[in-house]
Amino acid sequence: MTAEIIAVGTELLTGAVTNTNAREISEALHAIGITVGYHTTVGDDPRALRSALAAARERAEILITTGGLGPTYDDVTKDILCDVFEQKLEFHEEVAEKIRAFYETSLHTPMPENNLRLAWLPVGCAVFDNPVGTAAGCAFEEGGVHIVMLPGPPYEMRTMLHAHAIPYLRGLSHEVTLSHDLMTFGIRESRIDELLHDRMASMTNPTLAPYAKPSEVCVRSTAHAASAQEAEALLRPVLEEVRRILGDFVYGMDVASLPEACFHLLKEQGLTFATAESCTGGMIAQKITAFPGSSAVYRGGVVSYWSEVKRDALDVPWEIIEKFGAVSDPCARAMAEGARRLTGADLAVSVTGVAGPDSDERGNPVGLVYIALAAKEGTWCRKTENGNRRRDLIREVSVNHAYDMIRRYLTDLPIE
Ligand code: ATP
Repeated sequence: MTAEIIAVGTELLTGAVTNTNAREISEALHAIGITVGYHTTVGDDPRALRSALAAARERAEILITTGGLGPTYDDVTKDILCDVFEQKLEFHEEVAEKIRAFYETSLHTPMPENNLRLAWLPVGCAVFDNPVGTAAGCAFEEGGVHIVMLPGPPYEMRTMLHAHAIPYLRGLSHEVTLSHDLMTFGIRESRIDELLHDRMASMTNPTLAPYAKPSEVCVRSTAHAASAQEAEALLRPVLEEVRRILGDFVYGMDVASLPEACFHLLKEQGLTFATAESCTGGMIAQKITAFPGSSAVYRGGVVSYWSEVKRDALDVPWEIIEKFGAVSDPCARAMAEGARRLTGADLAVSVTGVAGPDSDERGNPVGLVYIALAAKEGTWCRKTENGNRRRDLIREVSVNHAYDMIRRYLTDLPIE
C-alpha cells in the first residue's frame, strides 16, 4: 500500500519548526512495509489544505495528517478533511470526559469550553486516545482511502503513532512485514551498492537497500509473509549473504550505533575503557554515558585540548609534542596510554586532529585525525584523512573510529 503524509502548520513553511513528524511517520511506515509516496506540507490555510487533501484522495491508499487538530480557530484539519471526504462529525462524550480529566488532573485547571471541539470526530471512526495531551486522533476509511489524523506536537504525535496508528495500519493487512538492519562502519554506500547491486536489483521479497547515515551505512532487508517465522526464514539467507560479502565492516544487526555495540561487548566481557580527547572535546565520553549503567564499562577521561594538558594530565612526553606535534601518531598513542595509566582501565582510546575550519600551526590539513587504542597487548593508531568534510562530521566520524577500534579489539579483528 502507498501512503501520503500531509503536515499542517504555517510554522513548518516559514522554517520556524522542522517537519520532524513527517520523517518519524515515514520511518515507522517503512518499518511495517508501507511505501510513502508523497510528503506534503501546507500552512494553516483552508484553501491550500483542501487542495492537498483532494489530491491525496485521488492517489493515496493511506493518508496520514499531522497538526491542526487543536481547539483554536486556525486548527482546521478535521473540518476540512471531513468536508473533502464527505464525512460527518459526531460528538464523543467519552473523549470530552477524558479531555476534562486531563485538564483537571494533569494541568490542574478547569477545561476551557473551546476544548469541546476536540470531542467532535468523524462518524464511526476508531478513536485514538491522547494520554499526553488533549487532541484525540482517529482513523476511518472512506472511498478506499484509509485516513489517520494525528496531532502536531511531536511528543503527542509519536506516542499516538506507536500506540494506535501503527497497530491500526498493521491490522489492514494480513501480511506480516519484518525488517532487519545490518549496521556497517568504514565502507561507503557507493561501495556497498557496487557489491550488492545485482542482488538488490533482482530482489522483491525480501528487499534489500542501503541507507547512508552521516558516518555509517545501514543495510536493511525487509520481508513480507503470512507469519513472522516465514518472514524470518526469508530474511535469514539474505542477511547471511550480506554479512559474508561485507565481512567485518558489519558491526551488528538491529543495534542503533557503534557506541551501543561496544557498550554491550564491554559489559559481556567485563572490561572498562577510558578516553583522552582533543578535537572531539568529550563526544566519545558523552556517547557512552548516554547509556544507563555505563559506569560498569566507562571509567572516565580527559579532554586535553591544550598541549600542556596532554603533558600534565596524560603524561604525554613534551619531546613528542615538540618533535611530532600534537596532531601526530606518537602523540595519539601517548595520549591513549596516558589515559589508560591514569584511570586503570583495560582499554583507552584517544583522538587528536584538526577539525577545522583552519589547518593547524604546523600546516596539518583540516580533517587529519589520529585515533589510538591502548590495551595490555599494545597500542594501535589509525590515521584518518577527511578531506574537506564539515567540522561536525569530522568529529562524528572520529568518534565512530574510536568505537570501531574498541569493537574490533573486543571481537579479535584487525584494528588499524
Ligand atoms: P494542539 O493545538 O493541541 O497543540 P495540534 O494538532 O493542533 O495540537 P499544532 O497546533 O498543529 O498541533 O502544532 C502544535 C505544536 O507542534 C507546534 O509547536 C508545532 O510547531 C508543532 N508541530 C506541528 N506539526 C509539526 C511537525 N510536522 N513536525 C514537528 N513539529 C510540529
